[in-house]
Amino acid sequence: MLKLGYNEATCKENSSVEKDLELCEKYGYDYIELRLDMLKEYFKTHTIVDLKAFFARSHLKPFAFNSIENINFCTPQEWKDLVELFTFGCEVARQIGNPYIIVVPTVTSEICTRNEQEVFEDSVKVLNELADIAEPYGVKLSFEPIGDRKWCCNSVRQALEIVQAVNRDSVGLTVDCINVYLHDKCADVDFIRKIPKDKLFVFHINDCEDLPLGILDHCHRLMPGLGAIPVKEVADAVKATGYDGPACLELFRPEYWAMDAEDVIRMGAETTRPFL
Ligand code: ZN
Repeated sequence: MLKLGYNEATCKENSSVEKDLELCEKYGYDYIELRLDMLKEYFKTHTIVDLKAFFARSHLKPFAFNSIENINFCTPQEWKDLVELFTFGCEVARQIGNPYIIVVPTVTSEICTRNEQEVFEDSVKVLNELADIAEPYGVKLSFEPIGDRKWCCNSVRQALEIVQAVNRDSVGLTVDCINVYLHDKCADVDFIRKIPKDKLFVFHINDCEDLPLGILDHCHRLMPGLGAIPVKEVADAVKATGYDGPACLELFRPEYWAMDAEDVIRMGAETTRPFL
């Protein structure tokens, strides 16, 4: 059985770290994935001591920070900025006992034209460089392939080959329902079953509208069970690996951002629980 998790993207426009913590605790979530941009905002009026104190008195626990994006093919300035944000994440993660930081491949405005070997070599290089930084903090990197062809790494198969080549205990994978669907409408969902238990770090749960690939985007995400993704099939494949961590509800839907965060977070718990 999986645990109940919440990813702050779900109410990123209508909530805050403080409010998400309170609401997730209220509705019985086990884990939260905090966003680095929202954490920066939180620290304008709070301290790390406040955050530690919340988790010390709560059932809710931190799980993964989101996210370090565009990790591939960086210019020196882009890499410097990325490492700065990543190091901030590592420092906070160590202090509150947050085990993972999610890292995301690079997106371009059109279909990515880099060949797979180039993406493989660059990903292995940058994941190793980030793991060198993260390991002294006791933090692990969870690499998340994004299913759309605009992202240079877009399948579970491709991402698994990369993390297996990196071959470090601190580097593994995030599986996200919509990213498996965006790649090929879940045709290779069984590939998830090939992920070794110790390489599957994070599971993002969601559903989406029934739209053609090429039009379907992250704004079309829906609560689990309300859309076109065979969510149970994906969750069953995740469980078959031996993964027993949280299914973290991750949505980027403007319609939910226009609602009261409490209604979204309550509905999220109700719709996610049947898949645990
Ligand atoms: Zn995700």
